[in-house]
Amino acid sequence: MWHFVAEMGQDQTKQQIEKGLKLYQSSETEKALHVWKKVLEKTSDPGGKFRALGCLITAHSEMGKYKEMLRFSLAQIDTAREMEDPDYLTEAYLNLARSNEKLCEFQQTVSYCKTCLNMQGTTVSLQLNGQVCLSMGNAFLGLSIFQKALESYEKALRYAHNNDDKMLECRVCCSLGNFYIHLKDYEKALFFPCKAAELVNDYGKGWSLKYRAMSQYHMSVAYRKLDRLPDAMECCEESMKIALQHGDRPLQAMCLLNFADIHRCRKDFEKAFPRYESSMCIMTEIGNRLGQASIYLGVAKCWLLQKELDKALDCLQRSHELAEAVGNKLSMLRVYRLSEGIYRTKEMQLELREQVVKILECVEDLELYCGMCGESIGEMNQQLQALPCSHIFHLKCLQTNGTKGCPKCRRSSMKPGFV
Ligand SMILES: [Zn+2]
Ligand SMILES: [Zn+2]
Repeated sequence: MWHFVAEMGQDQTKQQIEKGLKLYQSSETEKALHVWKKVLEKTSDPGGKFRALGCLITAHSEMGKYKEMLRFSLAQIDTAREMEDPDYLTEAYLNLARSNEKLCEFQQTVSYCKTCLNMQGTTVSLQLNGQVCLSMGNAFLGLSIFQKALESYEKALRYAHNNDDKMLECRVCCSLGNFYIHLKDYEKALFFPCKAAELVNDYGKGWSLKYRAMSQYHMSVAYRKLDRLPDAMECCEESMKIALQHGDRPLQAMCLLNFADIHRCRKDFEKAFPRYESSMCIMTEIGNRLGQASIYLGVAKCWLLQKELDKALDCLQRSHELAEAVGNKLSMLRVYRLSEGIYRTKEMQLELREQVVKILECVEDLELYCGMCGESIGEMNQQLQALPCSHIFHLKCLQTNGTKGCPKCRRSSMKPGFV
């Protein structure tokens, strides 16, 4: 006699996962999550369980619920271990790395990415390598280790080209835009997201709109830095519109921060402050501490422009705490530079000297100087160029170097890399 069994078999599991995907694509997120969670409870098929967890991880990542994302990633590792399949394990470790990246646990991210790269053997996991390198690059950038970040991005780009993976290429271009924003080569900072936007136009008909939103956001930041504020505004509005439609909280937070920065550049503080505040709410909710550090930096600059030195110092202090906690030395350097100016104005000699020492240590530590002229990199808008060894120089200095090889590591190839 048949009786009702609450457990799902392989076929039913597959159907339910598909049903969840359809719901998710038609923006019925809560229902989709419910269906996938039911699969987790009921299925007897480990492969199905693994895929349901994958859906839950992606969905929570897009909503900015990073702690849940991490929880599901850990469950996925356990499932992959039970299955004793290296392909599944590689994918699960990539998800774990990404969860940590989102939570600004950059050291952990790097170590999980290394686990991924060491684990492979089969062609399936090889295809994930590009994504692993991208995540690793983002983590190195989070830690302000620029040469390694660039090296990882270049590898990711190479995988994207070799596999003809345009979506990956698009994401790497956005990250490279962010990289050059940090090092203040604003021409490259605009070039790469423009390239990403081109890829979306040429190949992105079937892609999620988030790729378009992402490229527009990064373009907007570059336009703002280049003082093209109307262009910055237009791109940021476009990005925000999509982020709102998709319930993409992380991107909403980034756009709000950028809107605030645009208003700050216009010295319209009445518009800037509430946007910093809204951005802070979301950044706190999702746990993006690096984003929070950037907000405090922006608010500090607003106070500085209004000659409210003590309020500025207070914000810089908070920014420093957050940046230090996640290990982002570049943000710390920014804090020291702004504090130096304030102590100079206030004629507080002791504190001033303290900041100067910290700045020198930090610049040394980050190797933020050109190996040719010895002058600083990343202090003002200047064109930069990396060599294939990923060492970075002023473009103008490389052009006069001739063919003597990399001045830092002496590697002979002087052909500029494509990043
Ligand atoms: Zn130079
Ligand atoms: Zn070199």
